[in-house]
Amino acid sequence: IWFDIIPFAEEIAGEMQLMSKQNQLIVFEHSGNTAQVCIDPNLLKNCIINLISNAIKYSGENTMIQFNSTVSEHELIIDVKDNGIGIPATEMNSLFEPFFRAHNTGDIPGTGLGLNIVKRYVDLMEGSCTCESEQNVGTTFRLQFTF
Ligand code: ATP
Ligand code: MG
Repeated sequence: IWFDIIPFAEEIAGEMQLMSKQNQLIVFEHSGNTAQVCIDPNLLKNCIINLISNAIKYSGENTMIQFNSTVSEHELIIDVKDNGIGIPATEMNSLFEPFFRAHNTGDIPGTGLGLNIVKRYVDLMEGSCTCESEQNVGTTFRLQFTF
């Protein structure tokens, strides 16, 4: 089904703002000459919530989480960028494996299933999920779909 990504994403940003830490700001911005996308909204929402939950959990108070959508006629890109603890370079290959937790998570709780679920949903949607990260600097996850 076709829908407008802007109100959809603004609603998610609002919901996730309520889950955030003290003075963590979730900022949504859209770019592109259109905002109409054709994708399963439930699977997409679940993926975005997982990524923003991680951004909240793995970054501190008084930080900003950038949530961006970019749409062209046949493509949707979603970026979730944080300035958190980052992921050690040596562990980037394991990110989407079930029960994976990086060694720098310390006492931050988690089961290591969120990203594995994102990967399964993204595969169902025939899209991709990629990550760039630097330890103690921050992390960006990108979802990419064509339609
Ligand atoms: P949960 O199953 O509750 O989501 P989790 O957050 O530990 O637990 P995933 O979401 O699958 O599991 O993430 C796997 C691991 O990847 C995390 O434990 C963490 O080490 C790392 N990670 C994921 N997102 C980030 C991020 N934004 N910043 C830093 N590390 C991250
Ligand atoms: Mg998680």
